[in-house]
Amino acid sequence: MAKVFVIDVARCSGCYNCQLACKDEHVGNDWTPYAKPQPKIGQFWLKVQENVCGSLPKVKIHYIPKFCNHCTKAACMEACPNEAIYRREQDGLILIDPEKCQGCKACQTACPYDVIYFNEELKISQKCTGCAHLLDNGWSKPRCVDVCPTQTLRFGEEEELKDLIEGAEVLKPESGLGPKVYYRNIPGKFIAGTVYDPVEKDVVEGARCLLTSGSKTWDIVTDDFGDFWFKDLPIGVFNLVISAPGYEPKFFNDLKTSECINLGDIALEKK
Ligand code: SF4
Ligand code: SF4
Ligand code: SF4
Repeated sequence: MAKVFVIDVARCSGCYNCQLACKDEHVGNDWTPYAKPQPKIGQFWLKVQENVCGSLPKVKIHYIPKFCNHCTKAACMEACPNEAIYRREQDGLILIDPEKCQGCKACQTACPYDVIYFNEELKISQKCTGCAHLLDNGWSKPRCVDVCPTQTLRFGEEEELKDLIEGAEVLKPESGLGPKVYYRNIPGKFIAGTVYDPVEKDVVEGARCLLTSGSKTWDIVTDDFGDFWFKDLPIGVFNLVISAPGYEPKFFNDLKTSECINLGDIALEKK
């Protein structure tokens, strides 16, 4: 049986309850054989990553909780020379045995997700345990999942959550490790701007904004504030034409969406 986490990024309000609850559960608490205490500072077995896209005033923020992916092909487990890392048969969670870990850090080097921490005092590697100590004592979900006020985090059987997993993505799929933490609704990139008439000193409503990339097109018009937003774009190279009756068209070529783009205030000149 495999248990999975499903995270709906669109629901996350960035309250950090999950991050705090993970610390509360593990700092100063010795859950051996599952894990030794997490140090007070320096470790975040769950880290809420804040992503700020664009530039003022066109900015979007989203939050992505990140922690061990409990991978199907756990690179950390394969790299450990002391067989200290193991997969639990009952739920597939990957744990580091604190009694067997010799602190060689091979797992840290092997994991592409940067979710293993080193406990300098105990000289062992540590990470998210899936709160296996709770699951084995009657809890149906880990602490982080339990405290989330927006139900961003879900935990359960892969089969039961298959509808949520459909269309979800995993982080760094190129790692090929088969992560068991799925993310829904990670926003794509955006291209935005505001169109105005510099003579009239007013915004231009209803200007056509035609975006192309290869054979794909996106066709929208500016709103009552002269604004346009192309949302959820893939990373790529785009060309944009902005046109309105009575105005010279404006061209933007080779817009690269490795980052979100705010084109700012765009003046349309009258013909
Ligand atoms: S995310 Fe890293 S630490 Fe967690 S199972 Fe995968 S390889 Fe191991
Ligand atoms: S499952 Fe437990 S150990 Fe893992 S991130 Fe959540 S609270 Fe922390
Ligand atoms: S507790 Fe839930 S809403 Fe709050 S930061 Fe974590 S995932 Fe987001």
